[in-house]
Amino acid sequence: MAEVKLINVCKVYEGNVLAVDKVNIDVKDREFVVLVGPSGCGKSTTLRMIAGLEDISSGELYIDGKLVNDVPPKDRDIAMVFQNYALYPHMTVYENMAFGLKIRKFPKEEIDQRVKEAAKILDIEELLDRKPKALSGGQRQRVAVGRAIVRKPKVFLFDEPLSNLDAKLRVQMRAEISGLHNKLKATMIYVTHDQVEALTMADKIVVMKLGVIQQIGAPLELYNEPRNKFVAGFIGSPPMNFMEVKIEKKADGLYVNEGSFDIMLPEAISKALAPYAGQNVTMGIRPEDVTFSAKPVAGKTIDGTVSVVEPLGSETHVFINTGKNQFVGKIEPSVTVVVDGKISLIPNMAKAKFFDLKTELAIR
Ligand code: ADP
Repeated sequence: MAEVKLINVCKVYEGNVLAVDKVNIDVKDREFVVLVGPSGCGKSTTLRMIAGLEDISSGELYIDGKLVNDVPPKDRDIAMVFQNYALYPHMTVYENMAFGLKIRKFPKEEIDQRVKEAAKILDIEELLDRKPKALSGGQRQRVAVGRAIVRKPKVFLFDEPLSNLDAKLRVQMRAEISGLHNKLKATMIYVTHDQVEALTMADKIVVMKLGVIQQIGAPLELYNEPRNKFVAGFIGSPPMNFMEVKIEKKADGLYVNEGSFDIMLPEAISKALAPYAGQNVTMGIRPEDVTFSAKPVAGKTIDGTVSVVEPLGSETHVFINTGKNQFVGKIEPSVTVVVDGKISLIPNMAKAKFFDLKTELAIR
């Protein structure tokens, strides 16, 4: 069992910098929780407070039901993997992995057994005699993870562990860490600024901005039901398109008017937006929620001029200027589009999101 609970945790750095503001997180036993958000949002500070590397200014931190605010890092039974791996350059891989156990005075045989077992799990048995400088980035990362595994901690903490790897290796290591989580059945808390890592690895994602949690939920929950404009824009790539639109009531129903287009809302959405009739709101449409239309259709299409075309093989991203807004759409690669040409896209309005202009909270 290893649960981690943060209750109203705050961090105020010297100079009155409020880095983490009343954070509440419940990490269940064996859960993989990812803290994600842009640089400076307080995710590393939160992780470092769990590790005991930063003092908690106020609030409570429990590991397995025990209040650990004042428990030193070495007694918290956690292991942390850092972005820069923090390997000892003068030690071999074996010695690097054994070091933490050695200083905790584990018997030699047990150290040997644990190091070999971890090396097997990580497929680095051939590298045990090498020094870090003779390893690739991915191998170093595995050694850093190995050093955490040998400790058999209650909780694994990862601070942007894949940031220093190239794109291809990142994808591979992502899958390896997920696999490791399944194999070890351990509680893991993972910090990243990369929403793709969050979506692909997490059981539960915590989205942060300016020290404040914006939303906590399963990956698809955040994608399908973002609580506010920030989460909607942060999760998904390319990001959701936002446009200020006016909600207009006409004889046959509610419409959104962007200035360059006027689209009727399906009935299911109309109910939630009826109170906004006559007012402006922010509409969000994901690039993937459009289909190509051979010609403009009044009341149905978003029309504009193509400014950029990005053919990715499996799909094409088109950047469109509606005259009022920039809009990105994902379309079939078989459709021919040319820069400066006209294009029309039919948004799937059943999937459109709407946000209050001032509070930025989701209306639906
Ligand atoms: P993230 O990991 O999301 O990039 P951090 O947790 O590192 O964010 O930082 C959160 C905020 O706290 C930032 O505004 C950062 O400048 C500030 N901060 C981080 N470390 C310190 C420090 N040692 N002293 C003062 N401010 C800090």
